[in-house]
Amino acid sequence: MKAHEFQAKELLADRGATVPKGIVVDSAEAAVAAFDALGGTPVVLKAQIHAGGRGKGHFPGSGKEFGGVKYLTKREDIAPVATTMLSFPLVTKQTGEAGQKVSRLLVQQAADIQREIYLGMILDRATGMPVMMACAEGGVDIEEVAAHTPEKILKEPVSPELGLQPYQARKLAFAMGFTGNQVAEAEKIMHALSKLFLEKDANIVEINPLVVTPSGVVMALDAKIVFDDNALFRHPDIEALRDPTEEDPAELKAARSGLSFVSMNGNIGCLVNGAGLAMSTMDIIKYHGGEPANFLDVGGGASKDQVTEAFRILLADPKVEAVLVNIFGGIMKCDTIATAILAAFKEVGFHVPLVVRLEGTNVDAGKKLLADSGLDIVPATGMTEAADKVVAAARSRRKS
Ligand code: ADP
Ligand code: MG
Repeated sequence: MKAHEFQAKELLADRGATVPKGIVVDSAEAAVAAFDALGGTPVVLKAQIHAGGRGKGHFPGSGKEFGGVKYLTKREDIAPVATTMLSFPLVTKQTGEAGQKVSRLLVQQAADIQREIYLGMILDRATGMPVMMACAEGGVDIEEVAAHTPEKILKEPVSPELGLQPYQARKLAFAMGFTGNQVAEAEKIMHALSKLFLEKDANIVEINPLVVTPSGVVMALDAKIVFDDNALFRHPDIEALRDPTEEDPAELKAARSGLSFVSMNGNIGCLVNGAGLAMSTMDIIKYHGGEPANFLDVGGGASKDQVTEAFRILLADPKVEAVLVNIFGGIMKCDTIATAILAAFKEVGFHVPLVVRLEGTNVDAGKKLLADSGLDIVPATGMTEAADKVVAAARSRRKS
């Protein structure tokens, strides 16, 4: 789960990080009032969406040049810019072409920027540890730095038990070129970031940019955070920050039924049981020249109703041109799946070819149910045959 910039900044500020003053608003009038409340000094209007790259984004159809981060000095400019931001979807590198609707703006005191630094913490799967990363060349082009000069990004592994140690923060602060009082200021922000990451079971916390002003103040101008969904049950305060308007409706619907749905870009829908089987199903589809549109994991012991709901979600995805059901019956019985397929067929109707590979508990009973139904279902034995058949089925729909 992600949180908005203003929420991430509050969480950082609670732990001692310096952030600029800001007010969250949802209308142009409130934005003007916020400008006044901040003292009528220059502000930055910032579209609150979960995607990054807002600064370099744009509002197609608005006829305006600016993106989701706009520096403004004049009171009369606040309302028109806020109105545009709240009226048109914001498109960035991370949103896809349709963009994301902006419901809230952060009116933030503008900072004079002398230098922009990148500071982040991720879970490094290679070492199995959280790692703090810092780069003296922060700002909107950090992806370029990571791609072309990765040696400029310094990394410091952080013990999950002890947190970031003072010597580590000092080392990074010196390496980032901080001097005098700035060293302690930067360290404070690094400790806040590490605390937030560890306390709230985050996967990623990023401050980009961390800035130094000409008068030597060090503060976090942007903040992004991704929480570990599997740990959210321990953090009701974080769960309360969820913004459903930012999430994929199909994924939300699936989560409500206890199913796990992941949307992708291809045209083959996959219904599987178990994350491992989902991964190998996607691999084998790709190996046979196809592209998965999504995968829906019904888990180890899904009920008939859950499986019917799963089909409803899969078939509602307009990208899907063929469906592969790949079930290994362990706890899940193959005849349960077969019954659910037949029920779903009656309820939702299949408008695309369906290939079914069943193996395991009650497989013969499951296969018989499907064969006896007289429905247009393509049976497959083994993963290879299943992948072959579903890729061919999706291709033939492309041609027709
Ligand atoms: P994103 O990463 O989504 O593009 P940021 O919050 O990082 O959004 O904003 C993009 C750029 O806008 C920053 O790198 C910074 O240069 C500038 N910026 C953001 N907030 C402020 C602010 N409060 N004062 C001055 N400049 C800002
Ligand atoms: Mg940023």
